[in-house]
Amino acid sequence: MGGSMPAKTRAAAEPAEHFDVLIAGAGISGIGLAYHLTRQCPDRTFLVLEAHESYGGTWLIHRYPGIRSDSDLHTFGYRFKPWSGPPIATAAEILAYMGEVIEENALGDHIRYRHRIVHADWSSREARWTVIAERPDGSRSTFTAGFFIGALGYYEQDKGYTPEWPGMASFRGRIVHPQTWPEDLDFAGKRVIVIGSGATAATLVPAIAGQTAHVTLVQRSPTYFKTGRNEIELATLLRERSIPEAWIHEIVRRGILHEQAKFVARAKAEPETVRDELLADVRANLPEDYDVGRHFTPRYRPWQQRIAFVPDADLFKGIAAGKASVVTDTIERFTERGLILSSGTEIEADIIVTATGFNLSVLGDIPFTVDGDPVDLSQTLTYRGFMFTGLPNLVWIFGYFRASWTLRVDLLGDLICRLLNHMKAKGARAVEVAPPEGLALKRLPWADTEDFNPNYLLRRLDRMPRRGDHPDWQHTQDYWREKDELPAIDLDGPAFVYR
Ligand SMILES: Cc1cc2nc3c(=O)[nH]c(=O)nc-3n(C[C@H](O)[C@H](O)[C@H](O)COP(=O)(O)OP(=O)(O)OC[C@H]3O[C@@H](n4cnc5c(N)ncnc54)[C@H](O)[C@@H]3O)c2cc1C
Repeated sequence: MGGSMPAKTRAAAEPAEHFDVLIAGAGISGIGLAYHLTRQCPDRTFLVLEAHESYGGTWLIHRYPGIRSDSDLHTFGYRFKPWSGPPIATAAEILAYMGEVIEENALGDHIRYRHRIVHADWSSREARWTVIAERPDGSRSTFTAGFFIGALGYYEQDKGYTPEWPGMASFRGRIVHPQTWPEDLDFAGKRVIVIGSGATAATLVPAIAGQTAHVTLVQRSPTYFKTGRNEIELATLLRERSIPEAWIHEIVRRGILHEQAKFVARAKAEPETVRDELLADVRANLPEDYDVGRHFTPRYRPWQQRIAFVPDADLFKGIAAGKASVVTDTIERFTERGLILSSGTEIEADIIVTATGFNLSVLGDIPFTVDGDPVDLSQTLTYRGFMFTGLPNLVWIFGYFRASWTLRVDLLGDLICRLLNHMKAKGARAVEVAPPEGLALKRLPWADTEDFNPNYLLRRLDRMPRRGDHPDWQHTQDYWREKDELPAIDLDGPAFVYR
């Protein structure tokens, strides 16, 4: 009879496996958290559930030509694992680095791949999460855990964001999104249009420009870029002196963070000057008569959105060499042959790449319930962008956008391990955040859009948890504050309620 039973029924009959901590996601955040648990909470059992067939998250799923980081790996890498390659790294190099972290710390046995979490329910009576994971064949397993760490990134993994333009269906060529880049896509000798202006478009264009007949970047509005060599001279110098890699990592990391702090402060204090400097850098890499005003002068202030780093100015070299061009205009519609822009210009293409961004996802869009009742995350209030009111024993690893994401992974790793150890010492089974009595918090959208306003965030801001008008009750996106504030959080402070 067992053989004819549906897979789902069979799995439901299996006893649930229990772990002290469950990490959802094996991207750079989940692997970082797993490492910190082994070091800082060695007596706790934990499991990582990962939907995909391997680790890496962002760096596994993105397979478009040229895919690379736009942060340096001294700060995008973990603080505990030296980075010895060039600062801007390819996805393959980042995956190899993460693979070493898994290998060196024996994390592999803690990870179950091909397990997509489809439901998580908190039981107040049992003080534990019951998590259901589904495998690609549709079979399901149940896990229970005292604590849930959502290391799920911030965007939908399966499908990127593509706006609907009139006439799209009539286009005779191929339309491709970088997030789901087809392995068989042959762009050699083809006319390619890349729609978008962010880091992905800036990476993709130079990577394919040499092989295509021509590549045209079509953007609605420009982005700030910063150029530089893909080398840190100090690291090279120290390496020549046979300084240990761990020292080089720490020294270079501190150097970069110091420079970035100065840059952020200047971008806020004197945005006009910083803007002029960034534009002068772009201008220096383009022909003299190039219309930098139209194509590379953003409407927003530097640092309202991430500034994309262009190593060795490769994007601009492609433009200067005539292999790539930029058109700044809005798209009126697709045609059989390409695009018609608002100006009336038609651009013909064989392939159109929509580098138009992501769909924001809140905690992996997992349906969470508390004692069986659905949780609407947009109704919760966040504590420091990692805990949420009404959701006990749950955290979300949401990194930085202006600084490297992973800097926050290490900071939150320390904080979460401290919290777990604190709970153990207190004999508490559950912890929840709640605004202290007397603190009349105003509920505001997750991000201050005057300060940080990328489109993917604006499109789905209403789905995000709310922030309060107090630094404790928001994700400030400010590494330089948080590096001192997070380690100093009083876990017996009034925001924490233990049971
Ligand atoms: C192309 C690109 C380049 C980027 N470059 C940089 C950069 O240079 N610097 C920087 O700071 N940031 C960069 N970012 C942002 C980047 O996403 C983060 O820095 C970082 O990689 C996120 O890591 P993560 O582990 O938190 O999330 P992700 O990498 O998104 O990984 C989340 C993991 O969770 C898994 N998962 C999701 N849902 C479920 C589920 N229901 N059940 C089980 N598993 C699930 C996914 O399969 C995935 O493996 C970049 C983003 C993109 C898309």
